[in-house]
Amino acid sequence: MEPRDTRCRTIVLSCLDYRVIAGLPAWLAAQGLAGRFDLVAAAGGAKNLASPRRGGDRDFILEQFAIAGRFHALEEVILIIHEDCQAYGGRQAFGAPGQERAHHEQELRQAGEIVRAKLPHLRVRLVFAPLDPAADAVSFEAVRGATQ
Ligand SMILES: [Zn+2]
Repeated sequence: MEPRDTRCRTIVLSCLDYRVIAGLPAWLAAQGLAGRFDLVAAAGGAKNLASPRRGGDRDFILEQFAIAGRFHALEEVILIIHEDCQAYGGRQAFGAPGQERAHHEQELRQAGEIVRAKLPHLRVRLVFAPLDPAADAVSFEAVRGATQ
């Protein structure tokens, strides 16, 4: 087996939504990861692990992580769910302020547990991405995991 490429140690799971993708490289660069991350972009992001739309979706995502890890010396996975994600029905699917975020934080923790169970060598970072429609901007905020 060829030695794994150690320049890339992080894989990111994000929604495919352009509003998130637009801000992702700059945020990752600020994390010291410019040009050094693998990316899986699929509708809902970490929803595909926590509450997949179809049975095979979770396995597909985990397989992507495993494939990337065969070639790159992955140490870390960043799981993202963003505000107003249409995979969850958008922000209108949630009632009181804060309810959407609380829901997505719980989804992220569940997604994190699934990764830890299947790929225990990976460090897991959970990230909620609020959208600011007025400024047409996305931000990325760490979410504390249940077992961290
Ligand atoms: Zn989305």
